[in-house]
Amino acid sequence: MSDALLLKPTIWQEHVFTGQWVAGSGNVLPVTAPASGETLGHIGSTTSEQLDAVADKSHEAAIAWGDTSYDERAAIMRQAARTAEEHQDELIHWLIDESGSTPAKAAFEVAISIKVLHEAASLPSRAAGELMPSTPGRLNIARRRPVGVVGVISPFNFPLYLAIRAVAPALALGNAVILKPDPRTSVCGGVSIARLFEMAGLPKGVLAMLPGGGEAGAALVENRNVAMIQFTGSTAAGRKIGETAGRLLKKVSLELGGKNSLIILDDADLDLAISNATWGAYLHQGQICMSSGRILVQRDIYDRFLERLTEKARSLSVGDPRSGEFALGPLIDKGQLDHACDLLSRAKASGGNVLVGGETDGLFFKPAVVSDVTTDNPIFHEEAFAPIAVVIPFDTDAEAVALANNTEYGLSAGVISRDAGRALRLGEQLRTGLLHINDQTVNDEVINPFGGVGASGNGTSVGGSSNIDEFTQWQWLTLKGEAPAYPL
Ligand code: NAD
Repeated sequence: MSDALLLKPTIWQEHVFTGQWVAGSGNVLPVTAPASGETLGHIGSTTSEQLDAVADKSHEAAIAWGDTSYDERAAIMRQAARTAEEHQDELIHWLIDESGSTPAKAAFEVAISIKVLHEAASLPSRAAGELMPSTPGRLNIARRRPVGVVGVISPFNFPLYLAIRAVAPALALGNAVILKPDPRTSVCGGVSIARLFEMAGLPKGVLAMLPGGGEAGAALVENRNVAMIQFTGSTAAGRKIGETAGRLLKKVSLELGGKNSLIILDDADLDLAISNATWGAYLHQGQICMSSGRILVQRDIYDRFLERLTEKARSLSVGDPRSGEFALGPLIDKGQLDHACDLLSRAKASGGNVLVGGETDGLFFKPAVVSDVTTDNPIFHEEAFAPIAVVIPFDTDAEAVALANNTEYGLSAGVISRDAGRALRLGEQLRTGLLHINDQTVNDEVINPFGGVGASGNGTSVGGSSNIDEFTQWQWLTLKGEAPAYPL
């Protein structure tokens, strides 16, 4: 393999990144292609002793990095973007191999990750603060300061994007970062980011990348040098992290799960409605926090919609994305597959009618359509994270609102109608952090604040200017020509 490769295996085999590539102190973890089960290599993992030593160094590095000029930090972001552009084919290749992405999904993920880096380059010069009025002779300033060491814990589904969307702005704003990627996607979601910043000339120690599982994530949250955690993953893990962060009084940003409604009104163009539902429910095998987990269809068009969606699901090809153009690739692992099968059989046992799909072959799961789902069916409430379209009829707009809001989650919603005013009136009654009128639920543009309400998050957002709120903290600074005399 050529030295010019970004992700050359000899660089990361059995290693972790601490500013340099060193042996991990924990067990090596297999790097696996979910489509074939092939082992692509082994990566290092960390023990808490190694993490503690790394975090001590990160703490020191954060002080020096926070003092660098905004130009210097912006230049590193621009260089990382150029490096990613030069190596995009390799990044796409690894997303396909290691995360089971289709080539189109992988290419989209790399493109928005490069956009993250370009956007991050604008942050250092924008995160200044404000000048406030004060008594005569006193300068009164609120200024943005880095938080310190930020721990980023990321998931497997959009492994590159969901990690870099936090790592890049945190670094740009003067923080050091320790990234713990999901162990199933350590190369495309961890090594890739470490290498981009290493090649861009980021000072050693400002970024570390330590693969590992839930325990490694929990140790990162507990570490005394880590001032803030940015977590993207399940609500169950997010709750534990939030509890620990509360006890330790750490700043925490939680981007969690969803059960998102796509609402199709009776005046919708049926072709477009089917196209939106197919994309929202099946993109990346339904393994997206914003997937359209419930498709609510107005009664007048319900039967036709079901018939068309069933036909569409049956026509979607499923296969190894490394060996051809398929609409869907594999699920990430057996745990995810078992969860999907179990949820589908519980849905049936509760009266759901599986019109198509649900057959499995290895980690491949045929896209399913389920009708006759009532609000007491587990598939109405539980996140599937699999290609299962749950289609539910409603009669009135008010009923659609009640069904969509009948969830602990509140991430995304979509409403499709030829009458944008009606769709907006309905949409405004939905409790979600993201709302799309005349679009399905899976959307992200990098420059938008992204975050959910309820069990989908803790009120924080990442993306766009909300990154400045997340990855800095205020300092109130006053300055007088000389100290005043006080009357006491
Ligand atoms: P997960 O919570 O099991 O894992 C996510 C990450 O957290 C991994 O790196 C994992 O190793 C780590 N982790 C697990 N338990 C931990 C703990 N106790 N302490 C610290 N770290 C821990 O999530 P998953 O099931 O692999 O991913 C899918 C979930 O992520 C879905 O619920 C999905 O909706 C959610 N998600 C949310 C967003 C968002 O932006 N809101 C984006 C993608 C995925």
